[in-house]
Amino acid sequence: MGAVIARVEPLTTTRRLSGPFDYAPGDASLKVGSVVRVPFGHQALDGVVVGFAEHSEVAPERLQEPTSVRVEAIPPDLVELALWMAEEYCSTRARALSLVLPPPGRPRTRLWAQRTDRPLDGERLTARQRAALERLPGPAGDDRAVLRALEARGLVEIAPRAARRAPLTRPQEDREVALTDDQRAALRALDGDGTARLLHGVTGSGKTEIYLRAAADALARDRGAIVLVPEIALTPQTVARFQARFGDTVAVLHSALSEGERSDEWRRLAAGEARIAIGPRSAVFAPVRDLGLVVVDEEHDASYKHEGDPRYDARLVAAERARRAGALLVAGSATPRPETWHALPRLTLGRRVDGRRLPPVHVLDMRGARHPLHPATRAALAASHKSIVLLNRRGWSNFLTCRSCGKVWECPQCDVALVLHRGEGVVTCHHCGHRERVPERCDTCGSLSVARYGAGTERIEHELREALDVPIMRLDADTAGAKDAVGALLARFAAAPRGLLLGTQMVAKGHDFPDVTLGVVLDADATLRFPDFRAEERTFALVAQLAGRAGRGPRGGRVLVQTLAPEAPAIAAASRHDAEGFVRGELARRKALGYPPFADLIRVVCSADEVAPARAAAGAVAERADAPGARILGPAPLFRLRGRERFQIVVKASERRPAIAAVRAAVDAAARDRAHRAVSFSVDVDPQ
Ligand code: ADP
Ligand code: ZN
Ligand code: ZN
Repeated sequence: MGAVIARVEPLTTTRRLSGPFDYAPGDASLKVGSVVRVPFGHQALDGVVVGFAEHSEVAPERLQEPTSVRVEAIPPDLVELALWMAEEYCSTRARALSLVLPPPGRPRTRLWAQRTDRPLDGERLTARQRAALERLPGPAGDDRAVLRALEARGLVEIAPRAARRAPLTRPQEDREVALTDDQRAALRALDGDGTARLLHGVTGSGKTEIYLRAAADALARDRGAIVLVPEIALTPQTVARFQARFGDTVAVLHSALSEGERSDEWRRLAAGEARIAIGPRSAVFAPVRDLGLVVVDEEHDASYKHEGDPRYDARLVAAERARRAGALLVAGSATPRPETWHALPRLTLGRRVDGRRLPPVHVLDMRGARHPLHPATRAALAASHKSIVLLNRRGWSNFLTCRSCGKVWECPQCDVALVLHRGEGVVTCHHCGHRERVPERCDTCGSLSVARYGAGTERIEHELREALDVPIMRLDADTAGAKDAVGALLARFAAAPRGLLLGTQMVAKGHDFPDVTLGVVLDADATLRFPDFRAEERTFALVAQLAGRAGRGPRGGRVLVQTLAPEAPAIAAASRHDAEGFVRGELARRKALGYPPFADLIRVVCSADEVAPARAAAGAVAERADAPGARILGPAPLFRLRGRERFQIVVKASERRPAIAAVRAAVDAAARDRAHRAVSFSVDVDPQ
């Protein structure tokens, strides 16, 4: 490459150290995306080559060379994507690059033996030698000594070969289906001009079949595909169907893989051996070559937003990656987000493939009720063989208070009430995980009378066990502990002739249990009570998604929704299965209030051990974050979390780019100011 300078971005976590820095390429064949170790001052750092330059400010004799280069490099398109992400999410290049690094782990090889061309005629062979020859080609195993002897005679070749560590999967048979008219029309539209589309289809309308066909089209054009799903454990069917249709062309990427499995899947994609990557959020960074299709399944799912820095939204990153690659983007859901509805032209699958109607939904008014289960719910559960009950709150009761003095048991680290988990005999904080023994008496007034308010999944499980004679399976973060627990529990429920699946929002995800005839939502408005502009959207999606789980088989089904807010638009629309009506109403409301998609929100949270510095830092950011067309709300206090006092400002912007730039400048300035050294800053563009 001649006298070229390699520009290396060091992978450090501090915001202060920002490259790129110049290095001499040495004799290494560096390229954009090479992962290198470089001397840096008195230490050595890992870094990524982000570009090359003709000249450097650094004198030639002072330019240093990388001390080592990793075998696997980041594909250049992912380097570009990461640099874009760092800007878009007000993060650092180092943090964004670390999301696209090749996973650690080396390929595993094993010795592979095969026959040579040399004929066996006239060779004298023992029985063991004959047996060994007969089973070839194959790995050299217990009979290695025998094979080596044959190798010496030129009859066998033995060489190392990459051994794939393949993720465990639940194989399934592929079904060939004739497309419905709706599906055919949707595919024709996708085949058209390559514009991104929203695929809006009720559960069971055949969306997955569209993804499969679109992926086959991409492969036929010699291009690859990425398929994003919310959580593998909760959507094993989607993965299984891709594997059934495309076999080893599919690479699965998710957090439960071993290091070896992950690095093998990564390498298979990077080498073009596997052409389809399927996985949750982070699979948007899969090193798929010649990307032709990106699918975001269940695009409404909140798990697409990453809660670490950079706080990226995989849906937006997917759209950007597809745009850069000239790939087709398909975002599918039965309950699309208002943002997606607004942004993308829409394809509709209006009916279930099997022609069945969606189940009728009855709303049960719980105002004035004394018991968490409505009599109608009880009766329906007693009569149903298989049902799903959703209550989006775990634990026994929401909070404990002293009946004499009114004390509420709170977390010592966070300003929130502790939740009783009776089975474990503890009260815990659902924000920081703090746990303590269940109090027997009030430590303020000594009273022995402690009241428990509200009901979570643990208590409802207890109630249901008393009232019903069916096996009850609870699925929530408390029971989902072990690695395969979720999959095993769902498989058990699927196989059981009778049963009740009770749990948090985990029970409303993409499962397909044809024999479930009853769906129940308890306290459906719980999510509406959050002070958040997405409360409506979340409530609608939760209720409508659960409603889509019932009545998928010949016996039909129905859905009961218990609520204190029967007239709330989100609940009323969900009970009519009216996604379009809901989204239109919601878009009108957001427009009136200036919320996304009609404005961009950027949230900055300043936290510190004490109130004063957190407030001062938020004030400093608010003063400087001004941009044309931006409104700044706050600083406003947030509840204390993990012992940290917190203040936030929210920027509501009509122009995204200048607002992001202004917030970045304001946060960088405040973070550099020694007056705020006790403060941590967190920036969230498009907060959930
Ligand atoms: P969605 O993803 O919208 O929930 P699926 O693609 O999973 O819907 O389809 C639901 C069921 O219908 C699946 O069992 C699928 O195999 C089947 N299916 C899909 N398309 C057809 C079709 N055209 N004809 C018959 N069955 C179909
Ligand atoms: Zn008391
Ligand atoms: Zn806490």
